[in-house]
Amino acid sequence: MSVETTPPAAPAPSDFIRDIVAQHVAENRYAKIVTRFPPEPNGYLHIGHAKSICLNFGIARENAGQCNLRMDDTNPTKEEVEYVESITEDVRWLIAGWADHCLAFKPKGATPTAITSNGAPDFHIAPVSPDGSNTEPFFASDYLDQLYDYALQLIKKGKAYVCDLTPKETDEYRGAPDKPGRESPYRNRSIEENLDLFQRMRAGEFPDGARTLRAKIDMSSPNVWLRDPLLYRIRHVPHHHAGDKWCIYPLYDFAHCLSDYLEGVTHSICTLEFVDHRALYDWILESLELPRALPHQYEFAKLIPSYMIVSKRKLLHLVNEKIVAGWDDPRMPTLSGLRRRGIPASALRRFVIGVGVTKYDSVTDIAVFEHAIRDELNSLAQRRLAVLRPIKLVLTNLAPDEVIECDATNNPQDENPTTRKVALTREVFIESDDFAEIPPPKYFRLKPGGEVRLKYACIIKCEEVIKDASGAVTELRCTADLTTRSGQPNADRKVKGTIHWVSASRSVTAEVRLYDRLFTAAEPDADGDFLKHVNPRSLEIVQARLEPALADLKPGEVVQFERLGYFTPDSKDSRPDGLVLNRTITLKDTWTK
Ligand code: ATP
Ligand code: MG
Repeated sequence: MSVETTPPAAPAPSDFIRDIVAQHVAENRYAKIVTRFPPEPNGYLHIGHAKSICLNFGIARENAGQCNLRMDDTNPTKEEVEYVESITEDVRWLIAGWADHCLAFKPKGATPTAITSNGAPDFHIAPVSPDGSNTEPFFASDYLDQLYDYALQLIKKGKAYVCDLTPKETDEYRGAPDKPGRESPYRNRSIEENLDLFQRMRAGEFPDGARTLRAKIDMSSPNVWLRDPLLYRIRHVPHHHAGDKWCIYPLYDFAHCLSDYLEGVTHSICTLEFVDHRALYDWILESLELPRALPHQYEFAKLIPSYMIVSKRKLLHLVNEKIVAGWDDPRMPTLSGLRRRGIPASALRRFVIGVGVTKYDSVTDIAVFEHAIRDELNSLAQRRLAVLRPIKLVLTNLAPDEVIECDATNNPQDENPTTRKVALTREVFIESDDFAEIPPPKYFRLKPGGEVRLKYACIIKCEEVIKDASGAVTELRCTADLTTRSGQPNADRKVKGTIHWVSASRSVTAEVRLYDRLFTAAEPDADGDFLKHVNPRSLEIVQARLEPALADLKPGEVVQFERLGYFTPDSKDSRPDGLVLNRTITLKDTWTK
């Protein structure tokens, strides 16, 4: 079973952003709805980004529009090609079979020049090769020439100036929300002087931090973002995508609105921390008196699931401190970690779409996510038999070479469930905690002298318990009542417990990694010290025994081990001669116990 060929999730419910888009569509305001997903390539994408991806691609999908994947890469000090590649892979994975037709590509190396009927550049021109190698996502750094020209235009309009205040002085002059700002002494330089200085900034004449380009807006505005915000700063560092052509780089607020404009974006959707930036977004675009329809910014609340950290910087810290094995460690809330853990893209989409789009920050119960995963896998996953902590059980009335083929159901959720054969032999393994020598009250599993049903096989009775010198149980000697097999006269005879098992001779061994939540606190970062709440027991490794066919399972395929949970091969570490499986999720929520 491949988890990527699932039917699309239910249609997204409406929300205030979709209502705005619907209004614009009704008014025919734009020839085409264009959104974008603009990550900064300074880390791997996490579950919060999945919400933004599904919102932006969802709106494009519902309105026959397009969504651009854009690297928001104008801060070269923290950005890397590794991140560009992982982001591209993760976005493709998340939208595959759902909204890939809305993902706009551009031919490798192209910058926006062609203008379409929308008045926007059209990047759907490249026939995408099957591996996508002739195309690439959009890069804000591809627009550095255009952005520089726009900066010159602002200077010529008297709306931007070169400022010599140090970063510290700039902060002091800016004031605070309740404290007015002060005008920079460089604010009233002539246009000629500003043009000269800005060109010399670009030419590399000044060291980092010596000068900045600032918008000339209003130092007394109640919105601090309008108090002559920085547009450009000097950074003598090469860029992962643009090379070493530049030593000045635009700041987010300048680059973002203009990148949106250059790409013909209509709805620029971001998270609530940008509400106060909106006035600046509009000011820059309006000040330039641009010929085409302007994009507008809309804000929604971040997704913050409980027991998770959604900050690239903090996730990087977990990686650097080796608290996890890497960005794609299956305990990480990154898309690559969740994928490696076996969580289907469809379950992730279902979750992030289902929680809705609001204007108020809140924590989403992780149980909602886990419910979506279980629900999705319940119908997708084939059932298999596996024993995580094996204890040997000998069926003394079976001959050593006797093999009884039993019919096991593959997925009872299927409309017409199919079956496969599993071999019952004289020696089998059962789960060690399915036996109790001194059983607690109401214990319906195996106990001395007691009976249980081996699922799909027959009822067995525990006749003798063998122990080693230390008193540990090493073997259970039982008898099998073969008249209770299906089709036999006593097939309907009831016992209270049914347990899973595998044949000792007809099974394979595997390392199974049992993952638990990475943090023990619902809001690990509430007190600003998330490291304190790392779960010391987030990974347990066991040597399990599996049905032989499980050796052929491929990464991305998830099965249910009956009574245990959902499992998938580890895409990095599993080999034919050394199987490694990850537990995607348990069958039930065991956390509360
Ligand atoms: P981080 O703090 O993890 O670095 P970020 O906001 O800096 O996150 P970006 O790369 O700028 O990361 O994010 C790309 C897009 O994803 C932005 O539009 C951002 O608003 C959105 N986004 C980031 N985190 C979340 C979240 N938790 N929920 C929803 N959207 C998010
Ligand atoms: Mg950001």
